[in-house]
Amino acid sequence: MKFVYSPQYEVDIGPHVFPTSKYRRIREELLRRGLAVEADFVEPRPATHEQLLAVHTGEYLEDLEKLRWTERTRYSELPLTRPIVHAYILAAGGSIEGARIALTEPAGLCVHLGGGFHHAFADRAEGFCYINDIAVAIRGMQKEGRIQRAMVVDCDLHQGNGTAHIFESDPSVFTLSIHQENNYPLKQRSDCDIGLEDYANDREYLDALKDAMLPAMERHQPDLLVYVAGADPYYDDQLGALRLTKEGLRERDTLVLGEASKHHIPTLVVLAGGYARKLSDTVDIHVGTCEVALALARTKKTNT
Ligand SMILES: [Zn+2]
Repeated sequence: MKFVYSPQYEVDIGPHVFPTSKYRRIREELLRRGLAVEADFVEPRPATHEQLLAVHTGEYLEDLEKLRWTERTRYSELPLTRPIVHAYILAAGGSIEGARIALTEPAGLCVHLGGGFHHAFADRAEGFCYINDIAVAIRGMQKEGRIQRAMVVDCDLHQGNGTAHIFESDPSVFTLSIHQENNYPLKQRSDCDIGLEDYANDREYLDALKDAMLPAMERHQPDLLVYVAGADPYYDDQLGALRLTKEGLRERDTLVLGEASKHHIPTLVVLAGGYARKLSDTVDIHVGTCEVALALARTKKTNT
């Protein structure tokens, strides 16, 4: 199974709760634990202007290109520098590449060690997100004629508000978000929203996800699933108040990826948020998602 990754995802955003070093650390950890070898990592190309325009407005993209601080860029909660903009455009290219791999490799699965920037809207930045790589990848695959229908299962602690808004009136893309209700952001309407109470635990989370996801998956019959595997539902996260354990998060990954596999739906995994008090926990949770994906990819290979 391939991993999409670029060292340029690690950019200087100043003192910040978002640890951009996690991407490098996850890659190092995959190599250290013998879960991957160098040849398993694919380096993405930046998304093209045309690919970005399929989701974002020209006006907003011009702000980014010219590093202009406007009402469209100022809610990113990030600085606006050339390397930062490049990292986001590169991550959008990474999700495109990951989706292509998922749709062409026999495993039907690819993990992008980046992306998941679900708070970016068509015309503006929000919450550490400049470019909505999830939407860019889905639109890209539709334009390349590889898929018609897609489903987003967003398991980041925060609602995927940008993604929900972008696809709100598009019946070809089903958006599901399971999140902490009483938290950032201002909610938009996904096709299916599961707003959990504060301090929801593993069991409550997994039951709610299963009840909502399975019928939606069967009804919508997507050609591609994008799994937004946020690490921030973890009980020791600084930005959230859900109470999932690492075991619970692994069960969540197994549920989503296992059901997608059972239904033969090619799947792109993107990592999204993770702000645990200890960076090593965030890295460990993301590596756990990779491990679940690797185990599934292996069983698929032996079955075919
Ligand atoms: Zn989040």
